[in-house]
Amino acid sequence: MPTTWVFSEETNGTPSSLSLEMLTKARSFDGDVAAILVGTASEDVVATLGAHGASTVFHIDPGDALPGAPVAAALADLVEEHGPGLVLFGLAYTDRDVVGRLAARLGVPVLSNAVDIEVDDDGVRVVNEINGGMTLVESTFTDAATRLVVVRPKSFAAESGDGGTPDVVEVSLPGDGGATITGRHEESASGPKLEDASIIVAGGRGMGAAENFELLEDLASTLGGAVGATRAVVDSGWVPYSLQVGQTGKTVKPDVYIAAGISGAMQHLVGMKDSGTIIAVNKDEDAPIFGVADLGIVGDVHKVLPPLLEALEARD
Ligand code: FAD
Repeated sequence: MPTTWVFSEETNGTPSSLSLEMLTKARSFDGDVAAILVGTASEDVVATLGAHGASTVFHIDPGDALPGAPVAAALADLVEEHGPGLVLFGLAYTDRDVVGRLAARLGVPVLSNAVDIEVDDDGVRVVNEINGGMTLVESTFTDAATRLVVVRPKSFAAESGDGGTPDVVEVSLPGDGGATITGRHEESASGPKLEDASIIVAGGRGMGAAENFELLEDLASTLGGAVGATRAVVDSGWVPYSLQVGQTGKTVKPDVYIAAGISGAMQHLVGMKDSGTIIAVNKDEDAPIFGVADLGIVGDVHKVLPPLLEALEARD
């Protein structure tokens, strides 16, 4: 079984949730598992990576350098020294920046958009989605010594196991890559993050106007959930891109996904179709969203949602 490395970016004292999903999968392969931690290696972060399956943590701290170029250079040296069979990256900004540069440095291919990975003595098989998630393709690496794979969020559930404290290996950076981060701006938000929420109330163009998203915000906060949106409303400037669900937005898998005034275009479905229970409200009974909905309400969002909010607020 090959040694598997998992790329993990630390932000605000937490390793990316995607890296914990990938570590959980990696430990099912039976081989050694290591994490490549980019950011600050606090005791908590290292312990979390260990609990999810990493027996070694390669720590790279780019400080205020833009991580892509210097981290890829450091990683290329590390891969050549240790020769891991498989390196997993998430479908996230820094991960993608690093993996592209790493592939070019090593001269090896990348399989991206993976939703499943199988590893055995015959090699590594990767299942990925094409056509907006409507077609699954299985691919294998033929002769790459180190296989690079980019994994879609929520493809695997993150579960901590009984791993101990990993060894931490400090990795130095060969230069700073030439670009420095001069400022960081965090979008203010209340309630759970969209990708972590167990309930999502998402709106589409059928909500009619930006101000009608207040109704969805009230519903989401009453339910302890988060607001999501389609690309059509993001492009119209009604809500920020950070709320976009779908092929070019976030992949979510909440217990409950309420789709209000959303047609159900393939590019939206690919980001939410694996949600637990999908509830759709649409005035067009032929809207494709009803094809994936567990509960469908044919009706006007402005007539269906206000009484729903009232009923929820009236609960004890
Ligand atoms: P529409 O398709 O216009 O649907 C609005 C729906 O609201 C209709 O079904 C209508 O019947 C209903 N409606 C209208 N009024 C009411 C009312 N009063 N009450 C109830 N229902 C009502 N889209 C994404 O969402 N996420 C992505 O990541 C994404 N990526 C894309 C990537 C590419 C390369 C491309 C080409 C497209 C992408 N899209 C994405 C866009 C996607 O194809 C659709 O255009 C978009 O999802 C449609 O958004 P919508 O459902 O809000 O709008």
